[in-house]
Amino acid sequence: MFSNLFKKIIGSKNERELKKLSPLVRQINELEPHFKSLSDSQLKGKTAEFKQRRAKGENLDDLLPETFAAVREASVRVLGMRHFDVQLVGGIALHQGKIAEMKTGEGKTLAATLPLYLNALLERGCHLVTVNDYLAKRDAEWMGGIYNYLGMSVGVVVHDMDDQRRKIAYRADITYGTNNEFGFDYLRDNMKLSIEDCVQRELYFSIVDEVDSILIDESRTPLIISGPIEHGEDIFYSALKPSIIRLKEHQDRLIRAILNKAEARMREGKDDDKTIELLLQVKRGSPKNPRFLDIIATDPGLKKRIDRMESFLSSQKALHTLDEELYCIIEEQDHSAHWSDKGLRLLSGDQHDAFIVPDLSQGIQDIEDDPHLNFREKKRKVRELEEKYAETSERMHASQQLIKAYWLFNKDVEYVVRDGQVIIVDEFTGRLMPGRRWSDGLHQAIEAKEGVNVAEENQTLATITFQNYFRMYEKLAGMTGTADTEAPEFKKIYDLDVFIIPTHKKMIRLDYPDVIYKTEREKFKAVVQEIKELHSKGQPVLVGTISIEKSEILSKMLRKEGIKHQVLNAKNHEREAEIIAQAGQSGTVTISTNMAGRGTDIVLGEGVPTLGGLHVLGTERHESRRIDNQLRGRSGRQGDGGSSRFYLSLEDDLMRIFGSERISAVMDKLGMEEDQPIEHQIISKAIEGAQKRVEGINFNIRKNLLEYDDVMNQQRKVIYGQRREILKDASLKETVIGMIEEVVEDAVVNSIDPKVFPEEWNLGPLYDDIYSIFGFLPYFSKEEIKDLTQASLIEVLKLKVLDLYEKKEIEIDPESFGFLHRIAMLKAIDDIWIDHLLAMDQLKEGIGLRGYGQMDPLKEYQKEGYNIFLSMVEGIKENSLKTLFRIRIPTQEEASIAVPKKKMMLSHGGNGGSTPARRKAPKVGRNNPCPCGSGKKYKHCCGR
Ligand code: ADP
Ligand code: MG
Repeated sequence: MFSNLFKKIIGSKNERELKKLSPLVRQINELEPHFKSLSDSQLKGKTAEFKQRRAKGENLDDLLPETFAAVREASVRVLGMRHFDVQLVGGIALHQGKIAEMKTGEGKTLAATLPLYLNALLERGCHLVTVNDYLAKRDAEWMGGIYNYLGMSVGVVVHDMDDQRRKIAYRADITYGTNNEFGFDYLRDNMKLSIEDCVQRELYFSIVDEVDSILIDESRTPLIISGPIEHGEDIFYSALKPSIIRLKEHQDRLIRAILNKAEARMREGKDDDKTIELLLQVKRGSPKNPRFLDIIATDPGLKKRIDRMESFLSSQKALHTLDEELYCIIEEQDHSAHWSDKGLRLLSGDQHDAFIVPDLSQGIQDIEDDPHLNFREKKRKVRELEEKYAETSERMHASQQLIKAYWLFNKDVEYVVRDGQVIIVDEFTGRLMPGRRWSDGLHQAIEAKEGVNVAEENQTLATITFQNYFRMYEKLAGMTGTADTEAPEFKKIYDLDVFIIPTHKKMIRLDYPDVIYKTEREKFKAVVQEIKELHSKGQPVLVGTISIEKSEILSKMLRKEGIKHQVLNAKNHEREAEIIAQAGQSGTVTISTNMAGRGTDIVLGEGVPTLGGLHVLGTERHESRRIDNQLRGRSGRQGDGGSSRFYLSLEDDLMRIFGSERISAVMDKLGMEEDQPIEHQIISKAIEGAQKRVEGINFNIRKNLLEYDDVMNQQRKVIYGQRREILKDASLKETVIGMIEEVVEDAVVNSIDPKVFPEEWNLGPLYDDIYSIFGFLPYFSKEEIKDLTQASLIEVLKLKVLDLYEKKEIEIDPESFGFLHRIAMLKAIDDIWIDHLLAMDQLKEGIGLRGYGQMDPLKEYQKEGYNIFLSMVEGIKENSLKTLFRIRIPTQEEASIAVPKKKMMLSHGGNGGSTPARRKAPKVGRNNPCPCGSGKKYKHCCGR
């Protein structure tokens, strides 16, 4: 039989590959009598023997024939199924890390046992990935008989399982589970605080079942873990709202007056600089003022003059004379707002210092120097000062966001309010974006403005696409009935070859050419008619629809005709599996979307083969030929009879959008009348052409996105890798000391110019830096400083900080302090990584939109992404040290602050739940000037 197999012509390369495997298959077959002769205990003993031989140097390829023979024999004894030769070929292909294309019903489940057993000998864990929990459980139980017989353990990871059970499942030799569970466990593990809590082992070998669905259709689906952001400032928004309204009223009145003046001058024909200055003032005080926008719209030249005036005054440092008259100033370009002294007086009312951030370093120095305070009082005063500092900063931040909400964001333009929620309107497409939120408090500010509930902000804590998750396996393989059409993509993206395995028995299904109707209505009429006829004969029909909506329309029509039927839409896997298993029984009609009941075998009922087997009726062509082939493949399994036909109309999406002139031309030539379908090979060919084009477009989109993804993917690998190291590392003392030295060095180099004499050093920023990271202020007397150089200052400072570090260690006790090292570093990584996800997301969005001229947006993204990454790494160092140096009493409780206590949400895809929150203004580099306009570096100002 096997020799016949090779006579078939299935593409020459594939044929050659097949031929190469034939000796191996023969060898396995020749071993069969020997393995048959073994007693149960002898056969069971094989596993230990194989492992020993492997330990002595034989590799998996050497062991392949015997292990396959052993598994086959075990299967015969336990399940009564003997692996067909083609299943051996499939097993070899999977072991070689290829995609085995085996038609539906060929027995992929059984074929996979061979390579899973073989690779499990390495004791590194093998994963089998299914498309739903039901299949994971079914296959693990079903095939578990073989593994257990041979002394291998099997685990299943499904949705409702705690970590304890997950861990056990992953420790098993072979683990079945869905792509979702594997992916989420990976992300969750990378948020754990100790290595013992991680559930997964390494990612060694994975076989992905229905691989086209997971690695192509769902490849771009991100898995997202999100949780609410911890916010201390929510209370501010509603409380500050009245003062912001007052500010707006004052400003509006003022702007009206300025506009009146400007318009009067223009009427008098005086469009001199003074007029432009007035208009500039309006622009800075109310950029979206409708009257102002009208004026500019009627005279486009004006806008240019206003902008020019603005940059001129700005270069002359004279803008403030205009700004002083306003209450608050809006910088539209960088989406920021600040207030003038006049505005400040209005805002703070009788609370004079409500909006003045105290000078921390000066304040602390004053407290330390105060001879009337004892040690305890000093500590209390410092803490009070720090609290005041934090509160004022938050109040200022909230006010700034509120000003933006009132001045720059208009209801029914930038957002709408629906059912008590503020919903963003996409500025490019005009579509509503439910579930998305502006970040950084802006969304809350708008909620306060609209008087709806100020909600907690959700934010992405971790995310990965399936594509990137599966690319991490050391060895990856897949199986499906339909891979060949996507072979180039599998090769390019995953470096996976597609290997077409011949069917066990000859495939005899009849695939009829498509019939095409003019309208969808006519098409459905004909479909119902056809179903009716087949149904009256008793032949089972499986009807494929491409959407839930269409399946419901059809269902209604069938009900009218009194035809009993089942509707499936891939929601309840277990129940659908039962229904679809019955789809081959005489007289059944089953309507199903493409994914419903995948993986379940349709066995023909009694008498059905003589009726022609299962008939598959497609009601529309999918964009991808592969999906159509999946549907067809439901019929004609294992040599069964069967047939298939697609019904189309010119109104179908594929035809409308991609149908090309050619189809219309053919249609015209052949003539087309009401209710008269056309059935012609040329049409089928033309449609296939359209599908190929769409497939090509989609592949290109996925490939392009992957190139962007790769940037993040590299960064994730680095960060998660570092995280792992920290988890594993018993003592982090050396690492921390290294970080201290680097941070001190950077701080000095950033603020002290080696060419400047010590007497002229401006030590303020350096003190600020050191204080903000290490929580203490170094003191140098004039005498000390006189003899220093930049280099010796670094050394002296290092000693001071290290001294403090040693003191901390003793104060806290070395063991707890060591433990806190890990917590501090993990927390820093996690916090900053989350921010980083946002920043990169924004960068990507921004790059896509920016007109880059000659520049390659991908290159720009890579370059800027790398810079953001570097500053993130710096931030991680600083934040780790910040936490470590601020720890006081190291109780278990304090340590657990680092545990993300947030309600975590897992979601999958962009269906509203949680997309990364967006920050409107670009992320500011830590060494860039602060956007608040203070003139200080961001990290010394608002960024600290
Ligand atoms: P696929 O996943 O390839 O569509 P399945 O693994 O679901 O196919 O198997 C389809 C059916 O074929 C199952 O009912 C299974 O019992 C049967 N089958 C598979 N391999 C064999 C075999 N070697 N001998 C007998 N029956 C088999
Ligand atoms: Mg299957």
